[in-house]
Amino acid sequence: MIAVIGAGPAGLAAAMTVAQNNEQVVVIDSAPRPGGQYWRHLRKVEGYKSGRSDKYFRALEESKKIIYIRGAQIWSAVQSENAITLNYLAAGIESSITVAKVILATGAHDRALPFTGWERPGVMTPGAAQALLKGHNVIAGQKILITGTGPFLLPVAVGLAAAGAQVAGIIEAHSPLRWLRSPVALLLNPQKSIELIYYIRKIYQYKLKVSFNRAVIAYDGRAASIATVDTELRIKETVSKIDCDVIAAGWGFTPDVTLGGILGCQQVVDRDGTVIFAVDRDQRSSATNIWIAGEATGIGGADLALVEGRIAALSALGLAIPARLRLARYRLQKFATALQVSYPVGNGWQGWIALESKICRCEEVSLGEICASVSELSANDARTSKLFTRAGMGMCQGRICSRNVSEIIAKQTQCEVTEQERIGYSNRPISAPISLGALANGIK
Ligand SMILES: Cc1cc2nc3c(=O)[nH]c(=O)nc-3n(C[C@H](O)[C@H](O)[C@H](O)COP(=O)(O)OP(=O)(O)OC[C@H]3O[C@@H](n4cnc5c(N)ncnc54)[C@H](O)[C@@H]3O)c2cc1C
Repeated sequence: MIAVIGAGPAGLAAAMTVAQNNEQVVVIDSAPRPGGQYWRHLRKVEGYKSGRSDKYFRALEESKKIIYIRGAQIWSAVQSENAITLNYLAAGIESSITVAKVILATGAHDRALPFTGWERPGVMTPGAAQALLKGHNVIAGQKILITGTGPFLLPVAVGLAAAGAQVAGIIEAHSPLRWLRSPVALLLNPQKSIELIYYIRKIYQYKLKVSFNRAVIAYDGRAASIATVDTELRIKETVSKIDCDVIAAGWGFTPDVTLGGILGCQQVVDRDGTVIFAVDRDQRSSATNIWIAGEATGIGGADLALVEGRIAALSALGLAIPARLRLARYRLQKFATALQVSYPVGNGWQGWIALESKICRCEEVSLGEICASVSELSANDARTSKLFTRAGMGMCQGRICSRNVSEIIAKQTQCEVTEQERIGYSNRPISAPISLGALANGIK
C-alpha cells in the first residue's frame, strides 16, 4: 500500500491519482479537516477559484480506495529493507502503520520576522489569521493590518474583508514592478495574471489600502509604526502609524522537511535560503520508495503542489508521466522562481529590533542575550548559541526562530550562514512532541 502524508493540495492530488488507478492509498494528516494550509476551509471562503478543492474532498470521503486518517500527527518514522513504518499520535493514542511506499506532502508554514513589539497579543502570521477564519469562522480582531511580502497576503486580506473584517491596510515590502524582472515566467503563466486581476478587483471592491516598499517595524499594542524600506528591508524613514489590534505579518514560507529528514531524504538549500528536498524529475527522493511533492520541495503555490502530487503518484505506481504534466510543472516552477526574485527577504529587519525584543518567543530569549552569547561566550552558530541561551529549545523546536537566530549570529560574526547550518536547524530527530505517557502506553 502507498501512504500519502499530508492532505494539502499536493497530498490530495497524489491520493486521488492513486485511487483513480485502482490502488489502495492511506492519507494521514495532522489536521482535523483536509486541505492543508490553504484549503482548510470550514465553508466556502472568498478567493480565486476557491471551489477547486471540492472534487478532492469528495474523493477523500467517497472513494473506496482511499483510507483517510485525520487528526493524526506522525511523530516518527522508520525505514526497513522493504517497508516504512509511520508512528502517529491521534487523540493522544499512539498507533502505527507499515506501508511499502510513501509520498510525503508535508507542506510549509509562514515565515515570521521579529519586530519591536511582535510578542504583544494580536501579532500573528497571515496563515494564523486565515486559519482562524477558514477553520473556525473567527475574525482575528477589530482592525487587522496585513503586512510582509508576497502575493499570499492578498487572499488573506480579501478573505478577511469578505467575511466582514475591518482591514486596516496591506503593507507590502516590495514594489510590484519587480515582476518585470521575470517576463518569461509571466508569459508562461497567463492564468496567474488573471488571478492577480481577480484580487485587484476585490481590493477595489472592498476599498482596501495597499502600500508598497513599506514594512511594519514596531507595534505598541495600539498602533503599528510603518517605515519605508529598501529591497534589503533596511529602514529608510519612519513614515506613519496605523491603529490596529491585530497585525498579520508574513514573510514567505518555510518548507516542513522534518519527517523526510528523519527518513534520510536528501535536502538542499534553495536560492532564497530555505531548506527543501532534492527530488528527481519524477518527484522521487534520495531514499528508496519515498516520493515528495508540494511546498516541501520548494515554495510555489497550490497549482504547482497539485501537479507535483500527480507526478509523484504516477511515478510511485510505476506509470508513465504525461508530457503535459511535466510541462505544467516546468511553467509553474518558473513562476516559483519569479516569486523568489520579486519578493526577496533581506536581512535589514535586524535593524528593526531592540536589544530587549524577544527572538525566541517559546523560551523568551532576547536579541541582547543572543548577541551576548556571541560577544561574551564565543558562540559562532545557532546551535552553540542555543546551548547558552535556550533559543530554539521550546515547544516549536526552533521552527519559527532558528533561521532568524542564525542570521543574527552571522551578522555578529560577519560570516555567511553555511548550508550545513541551514540544513541542521531545519531538522529535528522527532517530528512532533509526544508525551511520556503516550510513549509509555505503547502502540495500539
Ligand atoms: C496564509 C496563506 C495563504 C496562502 N494563499 C495562497 C494562495 O492564494 N494561492 C496559492 O496558490 N497558495 C497559497 N498559499 C500557499 C499554499 O498553502 C500552498 O501553496 C499549498 O497549500 C501547498 O500545498 P502542500 O500540499 O504542499 O502543503 P500544505 O497545504 O501545507 O499541506 C501539508 C499538510 O501536511 C500535514 N503534515 C505535515 N507534517 C505532518 C506530519 N508529521 N503528520 C501528519 N500530517 C502532517 C499538515 O498538517 C498539512 O495539512 C497560502 C498559504 C498560506 C499559509
